[in-house]
Amino acid sequence: MKKWVYFFGGGKSEGGGEWRDLLGGKGAGLAEMTKIGLPVPAGFTISTEACDYFYKNGKKYPAALKKEVATHVARLERVTRKKLGDPKNPLLVSVRSGSARSMPGMMETILNLGLNDRSVEGLAATTKNDRFAYDAYRRFVQMYCTVVMEMSKEDLEHRLRAMKARLGFKEDTAVPASGWKELVAEYKKLFQQKTGGTFPEHPMDQLWGAIGAVFGSWMAEKAVTYRRVEKITGLLGTAVNVVQMVFGNTGDNSGTGVCFTRDPSSGEKIFYGDYLVNAQGEDVVAGIRTPMPLSEMKKAMPKVYGQLEKVRVKLERHYRDMQDMEFTVEDGKLYMLQTRTGKRTPAAAFRIAVDMADEKLITKDEALQRIKPEDIERLFYPVIDSKVDKKSLQSRVLTTGINAVPGAAVGKVIFSAREAEEWTERGEKVILVRRETSPEDVGGMAVAQGILTATGGKTSHAAVVARGWGKCCIVGAEKLDIDYANQKMSAGGKVVKQGEWITLDGGEGVVYAGDMPLVTPELPKAYATIMKWADETRRLGVRTNADTPQDARKAREFGAEGIGLVRTEHMFFTDFEQPEKSHERQRAIQEMILADNKEARVRALDKLLPFQRRDFVGIFQAMDGFPVTIRLIDPPLHEFVPHERPKQEELARDLGIDVETVARRVEQLHEANPMLGHRGCRLAITYPEILEMQVRAIIEAAIECTKAGIKVIPEIMHPLTLDRKEYMILDHASRRIADDLIKKSGVKLHYLVGTMIELPRAALLAGEIAELAEFFSFGTNDLTQTTMGLSRDDAGRFLPDYVDEKKAGIFAADPFQTLDEKGVGFLVQWGIEHGRKTRPKLEVGICGEHGGDADSVKFCHKVKMDYVSASPFRVPISRLAAAQAVVEEKLAKRKRP
Ligand code: PEP
Ligand code: MG
Repeated sequence: MKKWVYFFGGGKSEGGGEWRDLLGGKGAGLAEMTKIGLPVPAGFTISTEACDYFYKNGKKYPAALKKEVATHVARLERVTRKKLGDPKNPLLVSVRSGSARSMPGMMETILNLGLNDRSVEGLAATTKNDRFAYDAYRRFVQMYCTVVMEMSKEDLEHRLRAMKARLGFKEDTAVPASGWKELVAEYKKLFQQKTGGTFPEHPMDQLWGAIGAVFGSWMAEKAVTYRRVEKITGLLGTAVNVVQMVFGNTGDNSGTGVCFTRDPSSGEKIFYGDYLVNAQGEDVVAGIRTPMPLSEMKKAMPKVYGQLEKVRVKLERHYRDMQDMEFTVEDGKLYMLQTRTGKRTPAAAFRIAVDMADEKLITKDEALQRIKPEDIERLFYPVIDSKVDKKSLQSRVLTTGINAVPGAAVGKVIFSAREAEEWTERGEKVILVRRETSPEDVGGMAVAQGILTATGGKTSHAAVVARGWGKCCIVGAEKLDIDYANQKMSAGGKVVKQGEWITLDGGEGVVYAGDMPLVTPELPKAYATIMKWADETRRLGVRTNADTPQDARKAREFGAEGIGLVRTEHMFFTDFEQPEKSHERQRAIQEMILADNKEARVRALDKLLPFQRRDFVGIFQAMDGFPVTIRLIDPPLHEFVPHERPKQEELARDLGIDVETVARRVEQLHEANPMLGHRGCRLAITYPEILEMQVRAIIEAAIECTKAGIKVIPEIMHPLTLDRKEYMILDHASRRIADDLIKKSGVKLHYLVGTMIELPRAALLAGEIAELAEFFSFGTNDLTQTTMGLSRDDAGRFLPDYVDEKKAGIFAADPFQTLDEKGVGFLVQWGIEHGRKTRPKLEVGICGEHGGDADSVKFCHKVKMDYVSASPFRVPISRLAAAQAVVEEKLAKRKRP
């Protein structure tokens, strides 16, 4: 029979740390900590499989679950020697969510469950603290009302404020038991009004209400949004952890905290965290009170601190990764409530991986696995340009706060997450400013350049979420007075209104008025080490897609080993070295398009030739010694001519022809479906003179560079091929021109001629095409478009519905971003296998956007491509992903029996 519930407590646990998928991160952590002898309160975990069942069966629980939960409650009562609802010595439990991947604050929690009018008396008696017991009771009722019954938080908070005002108390801590008792009665009355039922007194009813709420929160809007933003897919659901309550708010000998085994911002090996005296765990995470650092705790509670330090060492050695732990101290006794792999900034990710490998805690392979593709992207954090002089910087300081996530951000101040999303959609850059953030705000946080909150510590919601994204964030800017109603904020006499610019320095925790110039800093030392290890490990080559000598040089800095795609048509429009000459190029290509006979076309092409040749020389120089794949003209010609009358008139004037001729030719070029039209190598079939000019430019540039001592390896690439004979015509024409030029020059130059595979027919007939083509480069942008029948330009309108798990959830990811392995990938694999059957040494690469997507790169490794080609900034991501593919392959081999 299937088991749905797993127990831990009394030094034993049914689950273990490796059962994350089944028990969720929290459940697995509690089970594992129990197993290795750490002080953990007892409890049980309802598995994620139960959640999966719940959603697959019209929100019904598995039949056996009721009985299993009852059995586990009884076992928990035995281990703790307390009973739920007992009027003398009641057991109280927390009910918490926890899925296999951490989703901080996105799902629900209920604390102090088990309290009712009778058991609260028992709690008061055992703790000898009336005030504490009734405060716990009202917290529970309040949470139950909002979380389980979804009553308005504000309604309840309003009653709390009114009660304090009526009785004359300012702080919660001053309210006596009678005040809380009054409030509980009011809450219950409100409960009856809103729900029509009475507040559940029986603990088992309370428990089932809470379990339902936790399962329900898996599909809540904010959780779904978070998974989408974080690209979390394929999970069964959330587990439910029912754990004996321990209290950090029973007095000054109690408290609660969150800590990391290493600094999550820098990665430095220091014990790092926040501690709040006399408080419940939620107070730290919610960021309502500003906590003290762990170093203070060391002074206040040296013994407990010493224990915690030992736990730190034990957990890090055990998990072999930086841990993020939650703990509570109840009357001087330490309890560990959670441990999980800690979120960290990208710089910290690199440092921790390298340090741990140096400490021999992990292997180099493991260190490589520890870096996520996003970590690399986010390494290139901008900072405020050091050229801004200190004095003017100082004069613009608005306020300071806690430096939660480094980097700098510039944007217009927005006070609500919804507006942050709206403004961003309009193309504005925004900084989200809130008193504190809550999970409802994630959408706005995700689009904001940076986040600023008035309250909270380094482990508050805003800090944790922003750190995970590597997004600049300042919290606890306590001097900041935010006026939501009038959409303004002020600090130190300065006022900033919604829509005005500010700059955040997340490294220093300083907020500046105005927009400052930002620059991207030097990379951390550990980055170079990781990339070196990656390069030593990977088998795939990594090239870049670059159209200009500048891009080519940049890509070399990022580690590119050649160019996988030069889109030559980009050179028709802009002269990147001499921008003032751009117009000349445009006119030449337009003249060529408008020409009505071959001679006129050739004349126009002759004007383009020197421009192209010069560009190629620049690119060959930048890529000295590395291959450069140059693709001949690809887009439909209508993209190069103006469609508006005034521009057509200007063009006609420049070329000395009649405007009607221009208009007519533009009209002729119109196609109902240009993506499937007269484009790619079809242009060279119709106008061989274009091919001739381009091949001439490539080879002449190569000859010139070779003569100058530069090692050139040109690869001439024909786009959008669909047939062997078609390819043969292009191939022969290319070789005839190239061979002729090389022969006349007397230099030794080796070049390749090959094709892109962008159409299903080309992939299917790869075996035939490879009889002639020396290389294939998979153009997976077009191949995705043509295989799936999805327009790459328009599918954005509905494709999100295909990815959104709340809508259709058909694909796990956007197929234009991550390669559709099942369909498009099938054709890629087929193409490679059949191409190599004909020509074993066929060189194979990819130059669609997927070449810079980590998952797709791993696929390219699996199907034995020679290289991937990515845009310059994504080159390091591809280098790392290629190395991770090797490590994953090794692991898979080891696992096989
Ligand atoms: C492709 O189709 O994948 C490709 C690289 O070409 P382009 O994006 O220029 O169509
Ligand atoms: Mg293409």
